[in-house]
Amino acid sequence: MSDTPSPAIEALLAQMTLSEKIGQLTMLAAGFSVTGPVVGGDVSQSVREGRAGSLLNVFGPGAVREIQRVALEESRLKIPLLLGFDVVHGHRTVFPIPLGEAASFDPALWEETARVAAREAAADGVALTFAPMLDIARDPRWGRVAEGAGEDPLVVALYARAKVRGFQGSNLDDPDRLAATAKHLVAYGAASAGRDYASTDVSERTLRETYLPPFEAALEEDCACIMPAFSDLSGVPMTANGALLDGWLRGEMGFRGVVVSDYNAVAELIPHGVAADLAEAASLALRAGVDIDMMSGGAYETGLPEALRRGLVTVDDIDRSVRRVLALKERLGLFRDPWRALARGDRGAGPQVSSHRALARSAAARSVVLLSQRDPAILPLGDRAMRIAVLGPLAEAPTDMMGSWSGAGEAEESVTILRALRAARPDCEVVYARGVGIDQSEPDGFEPALALARGADLVILALGESRAMTGEAASRTGLDLPGDQTNFARAVLALGRPTVALLAAGRPLAVPWLFDRAGAVLAIWFGGTEAGSGLADVLTGRVSPSGRLPITWPRAVGQVPIFFGERPGGRPPSDQHYTSKYIDLSPDPQFPFGHGLSYGRVVRENLRAEPAAAREGETVLVSLDLRNEGTHTAEETVFLFSRKPVARVARARFELQGFARVSLAPGQRTRCTIPLPVSALAFPGPDLVRSVERGEYELLVGPSADPAGLLRARIRVEDGAS
Ligand code: BGC
Repeated sequence: MSDTPSPAIEALLAQMTLSEKIGQLTMLAAGFSVTGPVVGGDVSQSVREGRAGSLLNVFGPGAVREIQRVALEESRLKIPLLLGFDVVHGHRTVFPIPLGEAASFDPALWEETARVAAREAAADGVALTFAPMLDIARDPRWGRVAEGAGEDPLVVALYARAKVRGFQGSNLDDPDRLAATAKHLVAYGAASAGRDYASTDVSERTLRETYLPPFEAALEEDCACIMPAFSDLSGVPMTANGALLDGWLRGEMGFRGVVVSDYNAVAELIPHGVAADLAEAASLALRAGVDIDMMSGGAYETGLPEALRRGLVTVDDIDRSVRRVLALKERLGLFRDPWRALARGDRGAGPQVSSHRALARSAAARSVVLLSQRDPAILPLGDRAMRIAVLGPLAEAPTDMMGSWSGAGEAEESVTILRALRAARPDCEVVYARGVGIDQSEPDGFEPALALARGADLVILALGESRAMTGEAASRTGLDLPGDQTNFARAVLALGRPTVALLAAGRPLAVPWLFDRAGAVLAIWFGGTEAGSGLADVLTGRVSPSGRLPITWPRAVGQVPIFFGERPGGRPPSDQHYTSKYIDLSPDPQFPFGHGLSYGRVVRENLRAEPAAAREGETVLVSLDLRNEGTHTAEETVFLFSRKPVARVARARFELQGFARVSLAPGQRTRCTIPLPVSALAFPGPDLVRSVERGEYELLVGPSADPAGLLRARIRVEDGAS
């Protein structure tokens, strides 16, 4: 974006009253009724009086046309409204929750689902999405772990790029695109004890190495907006954190877009204990760089005039933010065409709908992670006609399948597991009993379900959480199955029938007993509109399972936070006495980051890294042979990690440097190459300045972060740039 304010914006600003200026910095929310968003009298009146420049949660042609008409016809300056909504993992067509979508390790897919979501939301009059969420999460107790792409900074940075590109395209005034919001700056996922909104305390090193890189990636893609986190970072609430919002974001990163507060976050500076009243809260936020106050009960509206009177802010401070908001409206083409995609009038109709659903089906299939398979014959299902007992509270749960931010998606349109299995295998008798509720026993007990299981050739047991158990304000102290599901599942497994267990959840669940007993266990997350059909594709073998864990899967809640990029410490875990371990459980996870089985059997060998000695500016080509020795297609993901055995600061055990996806037919062999630019090996030294240290690096390549399965090669980084 250009630095020079446009003449049109300057002319508009010159005509604005203080109240109209503050109105442009105020975002109000619509209420909801059973039929959708309701724009109440107060909101319309605020728009008419120029006291609200943007709204959230207003979508759909009727509501948007009416409220935009009020802004354009009845407000004095006729400035179009900016309409924002949480278009997170789909809009009408709902894709898997972000943690599930991340499991595909496919940036092209991440981009495509964002493009489709943008198109659908734009057709509903939305111009701004509060996504992507780029919070690294290493503590699955935190409910919002479901909304992000997992634990690793590289993965989340690639996810950030893909999502921003998908939402925004190359030009924001394309009416099918949305302005994206990278959120929540920063370290929100490091909430103390995994409790949502809790305080965070993160070192400058960890910020720069782990939590900031996804935001840097989003900014490099020209992300239009940033949302600060609710939390405080080492005592400074992010909504008032000038060092990060102004210093780092606008100063170091050169961001020219809009900073929009989180919901009510400006007013929350009072309970944070850094502001005595709304005037102080508003001035802290504005001066730190927060342009838009989202729903703070008038923090900017009443607080800023008072802050001006007290000399806490200046009119210039206000004008600066107004310019940014108007520039975003200009960038979205709103002044020229306030109706954007609404003008086309194709909400939910037209040829795109079936292609969107096909994409949702493939995204759902690709989010599925085959965690364990003790019984090699159980999957894929095979052609034999059989009696399948589908049991459990998530088998016929259309609303839960939609996940935490289901946008304008309708549960009636979602394909459940039961329905999809019946459609996929009309030759089989598919019987169903719920058996148990998600968080309570069924009134008629387990028996009807157990009876079906006894008479079945195969049991499919759909267990997990409700969608309300993950997401915002949904942290848990336990990572077990809620309610009576453990007893139910144990009772089913005790029957000894071949059983495939499905875990539908927004987080890893620590259920070691299940992995020990079920024939196979699959993580299916919340798969969205086509959750059931995507899963059925995997179970029947139409699609080979290809999902890989974007987050380490713990054995017990006591192990969290748990992630592969830990520093080893001076007494790394081992069998010796005085090492970093527990006395009651292995420190190893249940499944490492990257874990996921396929129906094929892949052999990996002949790792090479060339050149073995390289300089900055050069790229090392890391390659290996892959061979599928199984009888089914294998969808393989190869991970490349690096390690600096000796460095000036202690480094992580491994750092992810890249990954590649390869499809291998039975018997197929291929050579897979992952380029590693030497510059990617840079890290902040003792002085926190990033550089590439000279010397030996170990490169580790394989199917997951389990050290036992990694092939190793060494390279040397030498002096001199090429
Ligand atoms: C969440 C944000 C979201 C906003 C608007 C907040 O409670 O933290 O992620 O964008 O609400 O819905």
